[in-house]
Amino acid sequence: SPTILWLRRDLRLADHPALLAAVKRGGPVIPVFIRDHSVDSLGAAPKWRLGLSLADLAKRLEDMGSQLIFRSGEAMAVLEQLISETGATAVHWSRLYDPDAIARDTLIKGALKQCGVEAESFAGHVLFEPWTVETKTGGFYRVYSPMWRAVRDRTVPEPQAAPSKLPTPESWPETETLDQWAMGAAMKRGAPVCLPHQRVGEEAARDRLDWFIANSIPPYKDDRNMPALDATSGMSENLTYGEISPRQCWHAGQRALDEGGGRGAEHWLKELVWREFAYHLVYHTPEILAGNWKSDWDAFPWNEDEDHPEVVVWKQGRTGEPFVDAAMREMYVTGKMHNRARMIVASYLTKHLMTHWKIGMRWFEDCLTDWDIAANAMGWQWTAGSGPDAAPYFRIFNPETQAEKFDPDGTYRRRWIAEGHENPTKTALSYFDAVPVSWRLSPSASYSDRIVELSEGRNRALQAYEARTF
Ligand code: FAD
Repeated sequence: SPTILWLRRDLRLADHPALLAAVKRGGPVIPVFIRDHSVDSLGAAPKWRLGLSLADLAKRLEDMGSQLIFRSGEAMAVLEQLISETGATAVHWSRLYDPDAIARDTLIKGALKQCGVEAESFAGHVLFEPWTVETKTGGFYRVYSPMWRAVRDRTVPEPQAAPSKLPTPESWPETETLDQWAMGAAMKRGAPVCLPHQRVGEEAARDRLDWFIANSIPPYKDDRNMPALDATSGMSENLTYGEISPRQCWHAGQRALDEGGGRGAEHWLKELVWREFAYHLVYHTPEILAGNWKSDWDAFPWNEDEDHPEVVVWKQGRTGEPFVDAAMREMYVTGKMHNRARMIVASYLTKHLMTHWKIGMRWFEDCLTDWDIAANAMGWQWTAGSGPDAAPYFRIFNPETQAEKFDPDGTYRRRWIAEGHENPTKTALSYFDAVPVSWRLSPSASYSDRIVELSEGRNRALQAYEARTF
């Protein structure tokens, strides 16, 4: 009898325990994607990018003689309907770890089991499920380094190959279409500008991983901080939709380590564990998604006005601070931003502009095609100082000295800023094709003056920090 494979953030065929178990059950496998509230509430860029991923997977399934069924509605109701239409006796899915997903999935599992349907969830989105990593006293990790030490020598099972064939039902249930869903409808920017910067789907992800391991592992530790270089893996967009599994990444890194990849390989494995740490925190302290992880920060006098003119120009990449503006434009055009740049723009917003990290977190959530619920929340709270294992608030990144260090010849800034340059780069000009007309920006305008002098912004933040009542 058929198994429904309920796909969410596991849009791949290889190393997919839920899929392999469905094949092993023996009957037809019916892959389904449900557009429920968790999809409708996505930011503009992640929703658009998810649509690209779904189109890619649908094509791959079709090439295998299978099909991806698209349905919208509340997940429980959709699954019940599909079960009655297909006679499925099992539903499989890969586990997620944020509180809304856990609440939904727990209810569904209970309800399906009560109706006699096998409801089975599987690991796949992380390397180490949050409850499998414990401190010596049985608690969870609030600090990254001991968690890294606890997991680095663990045996991670080898990734499994994709099944060569999926058993199909005699007739397929009806499906909606991605076109009907218009996943890109909220992208106010020109999606065509953003499209060439996406590396969509399982094959593209695996090719890039192979390329990265072959070319970029040895210098990774040093070069990973230089935003002008193509020196990091770019796996974040693939990992977030599950186009590649963390196990595939981990084993590729381990092989590089075994083959003499040294510091570069180890450092990359450590980055993968930062992602694990983010999920560990979201599972054990779900409040990290909504409020200050250290609640004494609730009393801090953040600006919470999203429409404040300083916030508006921060979003638009017009603060007059070239490293910050370059990074904000990079995100708007490509849907991604270099990690060093993420830290700098987040520090600038929360410290020089004393604006609440939630405002920045929400803007990233709307703009990033690699948006990840856990990494984004952790990244913002870490930079703002309110989060776990955070940089102390008084350690304020100076965007000017950061630029001297990490973009010494100005390549990154020139790549993204057109104003004031006689021959602006193509990428810098593409920003003006991407922004909404309502922003009324032009590359021939002169470059903005600084909205805040760095020393003034820094002193204001430090004074507020010192005067804090917590
Ligand atoms: P690589 O350097 O090749 O690293 C490999 C993988 O390790 C990444 O793909 C990612 O999955 C993981 N990783 C690396 N650094 C981190 C980190 N600091 N935290 C968690 N995981 C990490 N990452 C996201 O995937 N989505 C987000 O929405 C996101 N928002 C962020 C917001 C802020 C304010 C900050 C400071 C960081 C954020 N990050 C986010 C983390 C990091 O910037 C990206 O994962 C990284 O830039 C992705 O590039 P890469 O794939 O080339 O990374």
